[in-house]
Amino acid sequence: MIKLVSGVTLTVVLAASPVVAQTVYPIDRAEIVSGAQFDFKVEFPDRVDQAKLKVTVNGRDYAAVFGRAATFIEREDGKEQSALMLRDVALEKPGPVVVEVSDGTKSRKVTWTVYDAGPRQAKNVILFIGDGMSPAHRVGARLLSKGIAEGKSLGKLAMDDMPHTALVATAGSDSIITDSANSASAYSTGHKSAVNAMGVYADRTRDAFDDPKVETITSLAKRRLKMSIGIVTTTEVEDATPAAMVAHTRRRAAYDEIVEQLFAARPDVLLGGGSANFLPKSAAGSKRKDEVDYIARFREAGYSLATTAGELNALAAKPETRQLLGLFATGNMDGALDRKFLKGGGVKKFPEQPDLTEQLQAALTVLSKNEAGFFLMVESGLIDKYAHALDFDRAVYDTIMLDNAVRLARDWASKRGDDTLILVTPDHNHPNALVGTINHDMSTTSDAPMRERVGVYEKAGFPNYPAPDADGYPSRVDVSRRLAIFSASLPDHYETFRPKLDGPNDPTMKGDDDGTFKANEKYKGVPGAVLRPGNLPAMMNASVHSGEDVILTATGPGSERVKGSMDNTEVFRVMVEALGLATVGQ
Ligand SMILES: [Zn+2]
Repeated sequence: MIKLVSGVTLTVVLAASPVVAQTVYPIDRAEIVSGAQFDFKVEFPDRVDQAKLKVTVNGRDYAAVFGRAATFIEREDGKEQSALMLRDVALEKPGPVVVEVSDGTKSRKVTWTVYDAGPRQAKNVILFIGDGMSPAHRVGARLLSKGIAEGKSLGKLAMDDMPHTALVATAGSDSIITDSANSASAYSTGHKSAVNAMGVYADRTRDAFDDPKVETITSLAKRRLKMSIGIVTTTEVEDATPAAMVAHTRRRAAYDEIVEQLFAARPDVLLGGGSANFLPKSAAGSKRKDEVDYIARFREAGYSLATTAGELNALAAKPETRQLLGLFATGNMDGALDRKFLKGGGVKKFPEQPDLTEQLQAALTVLSKNEAGFFLMVESGLIDKYAHALDFDRAVYDTIMLDNAVRLARDWASKRGDDTLILVTPDHNHPNALVGTINHDMSTTSDAPMRERVGVYEKAGFPNYPAPDADGYPSRVDVSRRLAIFSASLPDHYETFRPKLDGPNDPTMKGDDDGTFKANEKYKGVPGAVLRPGNLPAMMNASVHSGEDVILTATGPGSERVKGSMDNTEVFRVMVEALGLATVGQ
């Protein structure tokens, strides 16, 4: 019903509208690699008569095409709504696929495209994800690690110096703004999904584990080509980006179940933080709700366990190590600025965490033992966490760390004759912008407000960080002319215009007992701090993602498909085509 201004109500017949038509999964315009498994589901908006249903695929009865009939659920979730669910089906023949559904009154038509992946070109694929890496982080990393003179950079980042570049659109099936679950899922499955969901289409039922699944690239690579799988991150390994390489759930926060799914998927290398959900409930530091000891389970399944950089390097060096689990912190690991210089965050508790480059080196050593090749996802995941927390110094340092890992991978691949497709991309953007420099050396009086020290245009000049060390990191961030990176999405917070030397920024604290947040008073007394009223809903405790395209660069066999403007689901296609991961031709 549409309520008119005059108060008269007008009933509109909506029978032809998608609002009340059947929902079909996979969704309209889905692209499916030949032979990849998926769950086929039809959700009817009403309770329907099974005898009246007609479902065809390219004009033939769906059960004949898929080889079996679906389960009919007459009252899904106990409501007056029916559904058809058929798990684990596949389509082999490339071409358009028209699915038509009718319940006798209402009907719906969707079209999918099944595609062939062509011949294999790459032995391995390494997908680097800079979580939430905005162009500002990237330029900041370039300025700090390479330097600049008379406007020209004194060097290139490894991720910039690649032959193929594309802009990648990141919207999800439910929103123009994605989170890391559905954005990583688009890369790992080639299908759109919804916020908080991975490896599934988020359906209407309450159960977070019954949603229609789509197959991941890790499953295809293992099932089809017996390739090895590696997942490397600086966040908890259960977090959205690493989890989306294997998991199927609409609830990314279901860490206990995600650990179960990680175990079931058996990635050959799994490195990051997040041991809390591997430990049985009664163990110190555990966050599990049950007494299952997943560290013991992984060990029993043949995995070696590393908890420090030393153990990781030693285990990777052993010729017999073929399955490696590394859990270096109970929660997220710490970023480069804290680990190497400031010793803030969790570094005192976990002083021997490896660098991302050490994690990558260990992964490459172990995974390359498989002659069938490997798929490896490497995430610099704290770029995003720091951007949420308005901590731009730390986000930039972890972008430098990502670039060091990219360089290592490129050097490794070039020694092997470039048999490896290497992609570097964020999963979504953060609304961060480099607007100039913050200048304590400007000739303003000492009592001028800090905002008067923000150098814009010609007053920005160039920052004066110390020359970077061999790994590209300046030893200090509290210099007198530093980068001014600001976010366009803000919770209430105190802007101090200064790097946070004692640990990552913590911009908000709980407000009144109503679920809202307010500026963290910890920073109120910092000289020159100003209260910045937020521009986001008060229930947000942090900055948020933004919906602009992200920059993907690529090199190696198959990378020529990276070009122009792409959808995030096409990144999956680039990888499966490089690996020849289709049924056709095999
Ligand atoms: Zn995020």
